Amino acid sequence: MKKASKPLLSSKLSAPSSKDLLEERREKAQNRYPFHEISPHLDIKISPRARRMALRVETKNRTVKLVIPKRASIRSAYEFALKNAEWIQQSIDELPKPIEFTHGTELPVLGKMRIIDISYDPSAKVTDIEMTDDIIRVITNKKEAGSRIRRYLIDVAKKELTSMAHEKAERIDKDIKKIDVKDTTSRWGSCSHDGKLSFSWRLIFAPSDAMDYVVAHEVAHLSHLDHSPAFWKVCEALSERYTKGKRWMRDNGGDLMRYGG
Ligand SMILES: [Zn+2]
Repeated sequence: MKKASKPLLSSKLSAPSSKDLLEERREKAQNRYPFHEISPHLDIKISPRARRMALRVETKNRTVKLVIPKRASIRSAYEFALKNAEWIQQSIDELPKPIEFTHGTELPVLGKMRIIDISYDPSAKVTDIEMTDDIIRVITNKKEAGSRIRRYLIDVAKKELTSMAHEKAERIDKDIKKIDVKDTTSRWGSCSHDGKLSFSWRLIFAPSDAMDYVVAHEVAHLSHLDHSPAFWKVCEALSERYTKGKRWMRDNGGDLMRYGG
């Protein structure tokens, strides 16, 4: 879901300037012109390098960024955004909707569809969450349990990814120094030269083949830090349907960012 940015010719650039000054200018610009009235999803950035004004859709944080060359006037930037207001709104509307952790939401967790079932109980001392084959049952004294559910799912992801990674590492006789499971935005997994692995917790929403492939990929890096044929051979040995998983991640990986907003 990528959109080409719409460039508009504008003044040429620009000597480098300090980040702080640009940030200050950005704030002033936002105080002076009601960019947020054009769209609450519009973000502005004053760039020392940009040559032209441009609008960029940022799928991950559901915003449209207006890039303003440093030398351009804020007034012309505002008029540019105003002229493209409809395009901005349309672009946001077309983005995949975030999937929130609320009552009745269906989530594919570890390869199975499960429905969130929240019971509100003001006398409950803590939020209690339990996952069965098809239900994520939540008993809570909170009006908003979304962040608790998120924390619970991150724990589930940690346990699952850790045990999968250790099991695979054992098969190739390698040691994992450390495993981090976090809220990464740009990569699903990584492997450092000193044997530390990290994964995105959102992998638990991917089909089993895809999750298995990502874990195999990072574990295989314990033997080969490149993407050579030898590396792919290890990867294949560690994940039976790795081509299927790899394809799924390539085509649908971006969708995983929708979960939990
Ligand atoms: Zn790799």
